Amino acid sequence: MTAMRGVIGQRAMLERLGARASRGDVAHAYGIFGPASIGKRTIALRLAQTLNCLDPKRPAGGCGTCLSCLKIERYVHPDVMLVERDPANKTIEIDRIRAMQQDLALRPLEGRHRLVIIDDAAELSEPAQVALLKTLEEPPKHAVLTMITLSPESLFDTIRSRLQPLVLRSVATAEIAAALRSRNVKDADAIAGASGGRPGIALRLASDEGERSARRAYEKELFDLVGSGLTARFAWAVDLADEVDPRKRSAAIDVRFDHWAELIRDAAVRARGLEDAPLRPDRAGQIAKIAAGADPRELVDTALLIQRLRRDLFWNANARAMLELFALKLPYVEGLAA
Ligand SMILES: [Zn+2]
Repeated sequence: MTAMRGVIGQRAMLERLGARASRGDVAHAYGIFGPASIGKRTIALRLAQTLNCLDPKRPAGGCGTCLSCLKIERYVHPDVMLVERDPANKTIEIDRIRAMQQDLALRPLEGRHRLVIIDDAAELSEPAQVALLKTLEEPPKHAVLTMITLSPESLFDTIRSRLQPLVLRSVATAEIAAALRSRNVKDADAIAGASGGRPGIALRLASDEGERSARRAYEKELFDLVGSGLTARFAWAVDLADEVDPRKRSAAIDVRFDHWAELIRDAAVRARGLEDAPLRPDRAGQIAKIAAGADPRELVDTALLIQRLRRDLFWNANARAMLELFALKLPYVEGLAA
């Protein structure tokens, strides 16, 4: 039995949350924090389903089959609002928050609670955050606000301090593998090993061969770079920065850094000789080679640089300069290029 229907991992936290929500005992505002593909959105939806499920027993996570649960799953329930950034804008604007507040003040139409899911809350503009404070200070009785983000540090302290934090962590490989097996996925262990402790990635890998081969290609790209000299690395940086559409360019860079952060992290930990559960047991061979051939401090610096560059990327920093910096910093290990 999982702690909440269809959620992989986060068992202890979800058991408490689910038991309370089943009794209707709920906070007015939650902050759901954690890395990408860890299950933040799923947990927000399951909380909404628990609170508005038509089954009188209100199972944790909702029954999943009543009309209310189905509507919430499809984002068409009139009492559950999703607030996202308009793709044309850089932030979630104050107008969007004002409209949400008017909506939230209404009594629930079909359910017991009205819920708002803000994803990603770090994308709220400053005026939008200021406007939101009012709701957090005096929430309507029936209102539940869930603010999802990868980077809670981008929220005002005054906002963060009013959120009940639900912090999501990496899920054990064995737990992901078990969940995949229960969904009749072939190669459950291999896919779980490749997921970096993130159920969302595991499910995508399980359902999509294209995703699996893309992932292998990104990994090969990193291993090739580690085994290449500066000339080849700079050519790589120019190529990748060449995309004219800034959104496509950012996405192409971000997806690589997202994959590579896990591999570099594992190599850094291993180079320090620490015993630790690797994020990517499926790449232990190449990771061991990098760990053996590179200075541990350089690996840690590279991991930190990746984090910083991903933040800069969000603000459209100069892509080529960024990639060249990465090319300079990445340790060189002989014999890794294919
Ligand atoms: Zn239900």
